[in-house]
Amino acid sequence: MLEPSPAEAEMFRGLLESAPDPIVIADGAGIIQIVNRQAETAFGYLRHELVGQAVEMLLPERFRSMHTGHRAGYQAHPRTRPMGIGLELFGRRKDGTEFPVEISLSPMNSNGQTLITSIIRDITARKTSEERLRAIAADLERSNHELEQFAYVASHDLQEPLRMVASYTQLLSRRYRGKLDQDADEFIGFAVDGARRMQELINDLLAYSRVGSRPLELQSVDTGLVVDRVVGDLGAAIEETGATVAHEELPTIEADRGQLQQLFQNLIANGIKFHKPEVAPLVHISAKPHIDGWTFAVSDNGIGIEPQYLERIFVLFQRLHSRAEYPGTGIGLAICKKIVERHGGAIRVESEPGRGTTFEFTLAVRGDA
Ligand code: ADP
Repeated sequence: MLEPSPAEAEMFRGLLESAPDPIVIADGAGIIQIVNRQAETAFGYLRHELVGQAVEMLLPERFRSMHTGHRAGYQAHPRTRPMGIGLELFGRRKDGTEFPVEISLSPMNSNGQTLITSIIRDITARKTSEERLRAIAADLERSNHELEQFAYVASHDLQEPLRMVASYTQLLSRRYRGKLDQDADEFIGFAVDGARRMQELINDLLAYSRVGSRPLELQSVDTGLVVDRVVGDLGAAIEETGATVAHEELPTIEADRGQLQQLFQNLIANGIKFHKPEVAPLVHISAKPHIDGWTFAVSDNGIGIEPQYLERIFVLFQRLHSRAEYPGTGIGLAICKKIVERHGGAIRVESEPGRGTTFEFTLAVRGDA
C-alpha cells in the first residue's frame, strides 16, 4: 500500500476524531497504534499512555487472559463483526472503574500488516434502563401475584361466614314469612337476596383467582367433545330459549381441559343469554389454524355490543346491563381472558349492535385437526 498523502492522513484523523464512539486501532500483536479523543475520555487515559500498550489494559483484569486467546482467534479469521456475541463486555477505566460496552471489530490492511479497529460503545444508559424495566416487571409480577393471592384468600375465607348469613336469613324467611308485618317480609327478602347475590359474586371471584393460581394441566383435548359437553350442560338454557348451538369440525389441541371447558361454557352461555327478545339464539363455533396454534370463533345473533364498550367487557365485574335485564356477575369474560392468556393466546371481540357478536381467541399451542 502507498503511504497516504498528508491530505489523506489529515482526512483519516478528522474522520477518527469526528466519530461519536471511542475507537482503538491495534496491530496483530494487540498493541495499540491509534486512538481517538473519545477513547481517551472514555477510558481516562492520555493518548501517549495508550499507544504502544497492549489493548488488554482497557479490559477488567479478569477478562485479560481470555481476551488474548480470542484476539488470536480473530487474527486467524479477521472480518467485520461484533465482539463477543452473547457475552457481557466491559471496559476498564484508568481509575479501575468498569462500564458495559458493545464493541464492533473490523480488520484493515495497512503497510502489509493487518490492523484491528475496535469501535467501542458505552451502553451504561441502555443497561441501566433495561435493569430498571426488569425491576419494574418483577415488581409488577410480584404485586399481581399478591393481588391474586389476596383475591383467592379473601373469597375463600368469606365463603364460610357468608354461608351462615345466607342460610339463617333463608331460615328466617321460611319460618316468619307472614307472621310479622309486611315490612319485615320485605326486609328479610332483601337480606336473602343480598346474601345470595354475594355468594354468586364470591364463587365467581374464587373461580377467577383459581384460573390464575393453579398450574396448567396440559393434555391432548378434543375441543369438539368439550363443546358437546358444554352444550349438554347448558341444556336447560338451550331448551328455555329455543337456542341452536352448532359447531364445525374442531381440532384436538394441547390445553388444560377444565379451563377450556370453562372458556367455551362462558362464551356459549353468553351467546345464548344475550339474545334479542323474540329471536331464538343461534350460536356458532368454528376454528381455523394459524401460525402457531388455532383461532376459534364463537358467534351469535344476539343484541350485540356498542363499540365504545368492547374493551370494557373483559374487565372484572364490568357489565352493560342491569341484573333485571340479564342476570350475571360480570366475571365470565375476565375469566375467559385469563384462560386464553394463560394458554399463550389473545381474545378479542367484534360486534354489530342489534345483529350479533363474535368472540375470537387464539390458543398458541400446536394441535392436529
Ligand atoms: P356476565 O355475563 O356475568 O354479565 P361477562 O363478563 O360474561 O359477565 O360479560 C360482561 C358483559 O359483556 C355482559 O354483561 C354483557 O353486557 C356483555 N356481553 C358478553 N357477551 C356478550 C354477547 N355474546 N352479546 C352481547 N353482549 C355480551
